[in-house]
Amino acid sequence: MGTLLDIAIVGAGPAGLAAALYLKRAGHKVTVFERFEEPKPVGSGLILQPTGLTVLADLGLLDEILMLGNRIERLHGADARSGRAVLDVRYDARRGGRFGVAVHRAALFGVLFAAASREGIAIETGVELEAVQTGGRARLVAAGGRFVGTFDLVIDASGARSRLRQGLGDPSEWRPLAYGAFWASLGWRGDGFDENALLQRYDRASVMIGVLPIGRPRPGADKMAAFFWSLKPDDAERVQALGLDAWKARVVELWPECAAYVSQIDSFDQLSLARYGHHTMNLPAGRCLAVIGDAAHSTSPQLGQGANMALLDAAALAAALRRERAVDAALEAYARARRWHVRIFQALSLSLTPFYQSDSTVLPFIRDRLVATLTRVPPAPQFLAGMVAGTVIDPFKRIGLREVQWSDHSAARGRKDRSALPAGTGAGVPDSPAKPPS
Ligand SMILES: Cc1cc2nc3c(=O)[nH]c(=O)nc-3n(C[C@H](O)[C@H](O)[C@H](O)COP(=O)(O)OP(=O)(O)OC[C@H]3O[C@@H](n4cnc5c(N)ncnc54)[C@H](O)[C@@H]3O)c2cc1C
Repeated sequence: MGTLLDIAIVGAGPAGLAAALYLKRAGHKVTVFERFEEPKPVGSGLILQPTGLTVLADLGLLDEILMLGNRIERLHGADARSGRAVLDVRYDARRGGRFGVAVHRAALFGVLFAAASREGIAIETGVELEAVQTGGRARLVAAGGRFVGTFDLVIDASGARSRLRQGLGDPSEWRPLAYGAFWASLGWRGDGFDENALLQRYDRASVMIGVLPIGRPRPGADKMAAFFWSLKPDDAERVQALGLDAWKARVVELWPECAAYVSQIDSFDQLSLARYGHHTMNLPAGRCLAVIGDAAHSTSPQLGQGANMALLDAAALAAALRRERAVDAALEAYARARRWHVRIFQALSLSLTPFYQSDSTVLPFIRDRLVATLTRVPPAPQFLAGMVAGTVIDPFKRIGLREVQWSDHSAARGRKDRSALPAGTGAGVPDSPAKPPS
């Protein structure tokens, strides 16, 4: 696009910050609006998949994130009572040397936010946006009806509960899912755990306990793990009323090695209650308004794709604005480029979640008896590896990205002293500045 635009981005999460970086570098005037007084990450840890890592590489931030995060090679889940493995997905079931990188949210946020600060991107905090009125230009309105400004383009990156997208009249509606989870970031304890795996234990589908080694929130900090316990948000009060010791005893009964984690918890205040919901917009764009990340599509974190899809959306929108001559055409191109990847992963997530988080007794029975066996028979391991990596359908081609070639990547070859990447070594401290954007 020849014309340089005045762009407002609402939300300083992964989607908003990645979009801000792309668009500022393309020469546009970018202002990010964030409701928090101080921009901050929400939640515990997440897995960056080859998709999200490719976007971070495109932004020149891969080395920084690799230095903080922790290499994940497989996802392994077992029935808590029998110990039988019912899920075993390995990234290397497909060729290419792929892996995931588990990160503390503060690490992902810190890397993106520091890059945005280096680029001099304006971030206005403590501003809660309420609506976008679109005519010739987009008028942005904050809480209480306060007029904020007019822009050539507003990007709604305000997360799953976005209010701005409502102006588009899209019929999709955010619906709460039955199960959410208690999450905590705790000190990493290796005994009985694999440092390169997301490990889970299930009791039917009503209990899922997980331990994800997430590396360090910032250089020099101790290594951490994200610990989660699934439950219905409506049951949280009942669990709390029964007392912390009763809850800890239940965790340890189902997974004795977790004593090393629950012993770090002295109060329910250390646990955040996450509520999950699901929605997929039919068309995440309107006149002068693009919707990206969780604002456009959200789901349970069962497949671990949300932050990665948010990063892909930002890359796709930037690519569309680069290629098309007019904003309207670029917004249509953005929606087209992401349509099938988003729809397929949203559908997969919605259909698989009840096998792991629901009141059903039939679905976990099928999972434990049938799925566990079937998923060992080719091509199931390859399909599952692609599903977890986010590449069941190619998300890159339509947005002009090429997946990071791990064999070419210096950190992946373990050149750096104590990088997170060689299996089992954990994260190191960055010793070189980020690469310039490609
Ligand atoms: C417990 C849990 C575990 C998860 N695990 C994974 C995982 O393993 N892998 C993965 O890829 N994804 C995971 N996800 C999903 C992932 O966190 C989201 O998909 C991702 O954060 C979406 O990024 P985003 O930038 O679109 O939105 P958000 O991260 O929600 O950021 C939105 C930002 O907008 C701001 N904002 C909101 N409303 C307004 C407003 N009105 N005005 C101004 N600012 C506003 C918010 O304060 C926030 O900073 C998980 C989610 C949860 C809850």
